[in-house]
Amino acid sequence: MHYPRLEIRLEIIRKNVTTILEKCDKHSLMPTFVTKGFLADFPLLTTLYKGGVRRFADSNMINLLRMRAMFGKEVELFLIRLPMQEELELVCQNDIVPLISHWEVLEALHTTARKAKKRQRVMLAVEGGDAREGFLPEEFEGIEGRVRDLSWLSVEGIATTLACLSGVLPDRGVVKRLTTLKKELRQKLGKDHFILSVGGTTFFELWRENETWMDIDEIRFGEAFLFGSDISRKKTIEWLSQGAFLLYAEIVEVRSKKVTEEVERGFDAFGRSLSLFPSAPRRRALVALGKQDIDESQLYFWDGNVTIIGATSNYLVLDVEESDKGYKVGDIVCFYPGYGAVLRAFLSPYVEKVYVS
Ligand SMILES: *Cc1c(COP(=O)(O)O)cnc(C)c1O
Repeated sequence: MHYPRLEIRLEIIRKNVTTILEKCDKHSLMPTFVTKGFLADFPLLTTLYKGGVRRFADSNMINLLRMRAMFGKEVELFLIRLPMQEELELVCQNDIVPLISHWEVLEALHTTARKAKKRQRVMLAVEGGDAREGFLPEEFEGIEGRVRDLSWLSVEGIATTLACLSGVLPDRGVVKRLTTLKKELRQKLGKDHFILSVGGTTFFELWRENETWMDIDEIRFGEAFLFGSDISRKKTIEWLSQGAFLLYAEIVEVRSKKVTEEVERGFDAFGRSLSLFPSAPRRRALVALGKQDIDESQLYFWDGNVTIIGATSNYLVLDVEESDKGYKVGDIVCFYPGYGAVLRAFLSPYVEKVYVS
């Protein structure tokens, strides 16, 4: 067996997919599964597809192109990072629906679509209060005129993303504003079909009660089906399952050590100043798992008497002084990795990915 090893339990994800699809169906919501958290890796992707998922979104074009090649016209694909110039042609050739937040990008995409003689669908990104991507609502003044000239484009709706940057959470007020904007734009553009898309996972909270006042058409999420949690609200989602990802790694040193006091203290290898370490010796376990493989701030260890001190590029350092488990060299320890840690593990060629069905 090779370590470090990321174990992915597909049966948990399969269960979450079924539950989410049922919930969305009940609330007439189109569910869009965001795949950027696991690099749209093949076995996981196939699990989603077999579970009935037909709408995928990613922030990386490479992943979207691979999905188009795998599933053909069977699936709807969305580019959820604002496109770079060189991506416009790929968007158009591969029938990918992008999020757009600038008139000049819409115009450039229109030119591309006209040349290709292909009708191109787009979603307009709208700033929802998180101060990240999107048109400001007041910029839609006169949108009818601007869009009229872009005859090769079809504006499908508006999309907002919250809680990713400033932690702004969606509430009744936010949704009311968005639904009002949707109605206004639908009217201005004279469309029968004009949708409101929201993301990410934290929006699920809004369907707790039997809400009938909301007029949301699509929800985009990653954390929900992967982790069954809502990190923006610091809680698990009780109607979903957790524990789909486990990270195993090996202890390569265990010793009592203290930090030298006699020398000048600088910064760590990543330029951060160090917090104060206890000067009395403490038992430390070094795990062969480094910053290249994981985000140590998003690792959770089952033994509550062990603290994760930090990580260097080579090692994860645990304080095991308070534990009575007798950790020793060669032991395999297991962590629950959070969203960021799983993404890092997928990006690291040093972490073996093992799928368990
Ligand atoms: C990442 C992302 C999502 C999914 O967010 P989760 O928190 O993983 O549910 C949705 N929309 C956009 C635009 C994103 O970038």
